[in-house]
Amino acid sequence: MNKTILALNAGSSSVKFGICELDRAGEPTMAARGSLQFGPSARIKAKAEDGKSLVDRALPHGDQEGVIGALLDWVETESGGREISACGHRIVHGGTSFFDPVLLTPERIDAVEALTPLSPLHQPGSVAPIRAIAKLRPQLRQIGCFDTAFHRTIDPPANRFALPRGYEERGIRRYGFHGLSFESIASRLAAEGKADRRTVVAHLGNGASLCAMRHGRSLDTTMGFSALDGLVMGTRCGTLDPGVLLHLLQHDRMSADELQHVLYEKSGLLGVSGISADMRELEASADPKAREAIELFVFRAAREIAALANTLGGLDCLVFTAGIGEKSSAVRKAICDRLGWLGIALDESSNLAHDPIISAAASTIEVKVMPADEEIVIARHVLEVIGTT
Ligand code: ADP
Repeated sequence: MNKTILALNAGSSSVKFGICELDRAGEPTMAARGSLQFGPSARIKAKAEDGKSLVDRALPHGDQEGVIGALLDWVETESGGREISACGHRIVHGGTSFFDPVLLTPERIDAVEALTPLSPLHQPGSVAPIRAIAKLRPQLRQIGCFDTAFHRTIDPPANRFALPRGYEERGIRRYGFHGLSFESIASRLAAEGKADRRTVVAHLGNGASLCAMRHGRSLDTTMGFSALDGLVMGTRCGTLDPGVLLHLLQHDRMSADELQHVLYEKSGLLGVSGISADMRELEASADPKAREAIELFVFRAAREIAALANTLGGLDCLVFTAGIGEKSSAVRKAICDRLGWLGIALDESSNLAHDPIISAAASTIEVKVMPADEEIVIARHVLEVIGTT
């Protein structure tokens, strides 16, 4: 029987999954991809790699065990009777103890869950499917892959905050996120023989962050202690003067929970536009507030790309990835226009066509559009832990 690995990429409201098999060289290849929705509109959808729909079905039970159970049943029976060898998970936060992918024993699942205070809104979404599978298929090996791990190579001063020393010893430092996405891009750049280039990767999705990388190593990133820092996001504020937080707490008497809600759920593109967190909707809107939100998104992205180029001591390559990075030619153009002074020039028609290389021949910096494949990275990590035999 061909070895099947299930890669789960849990977000806050949905889970993407990939079903991987091994090719003759022992490399994981994707046989199908899909997504799971939870709650009242619970659903499983999957497509083969050629785009053919394999399943698109409402599910009767919207809780974790109901939805994850439906996925396992579908993989093991309807999708061709596969036997799942192991399941890999994207876990948002590894704290200061989890870096390499690990077999998730009951003790380690508890330890991962104990990191929830470091990522209160995202870590529970990482842990829930792991707990569900541990209950539904206790014998199935589960491997945790940490989104913070790729940034372990960031050294001081880039990972340090200017707080009293003792805070850092308690883990208050820049961790960085979107690590599996950045790792996916790093491995593609290496395969193209371009790992030595000073590269900034712009992961622009609902969440958004930048990574400065060279030789496959992260040297700086815009997300920090939490997934709030850095760029303007769909509903998150990105970098904010901490004095604003004090003002809201002390003067407006906001509670910590209210503040968390505003910073994570009500800010970013949604907050500034008052219309939507979704870039497509903002681009389609004639409302000037939509334009202002996009302008701020672009301004901050360009500013931070320049800052990360400084960390790298120059810039050879800029990579756009994730929903906005891969699909919005207007946002890419607006960001690159602001970076023209660095030597970036776009080829307009390549940019409109979302070509793999969108810079003009005269550009001193190569600008690329690359889809990130977090599920393949997860599957590779699973194989590192369980072996290919
Ligand atoms: P997530 O972080 O949830 O995985 P994605 O990477 O899918 O998010 O990115 C979602 C964002 O990408 C949304 O703001 C969406 O509007 C934007 N997006 C997707 N397709 C397009 C498009 N064709 N044009 C502009 N923006 C797009």
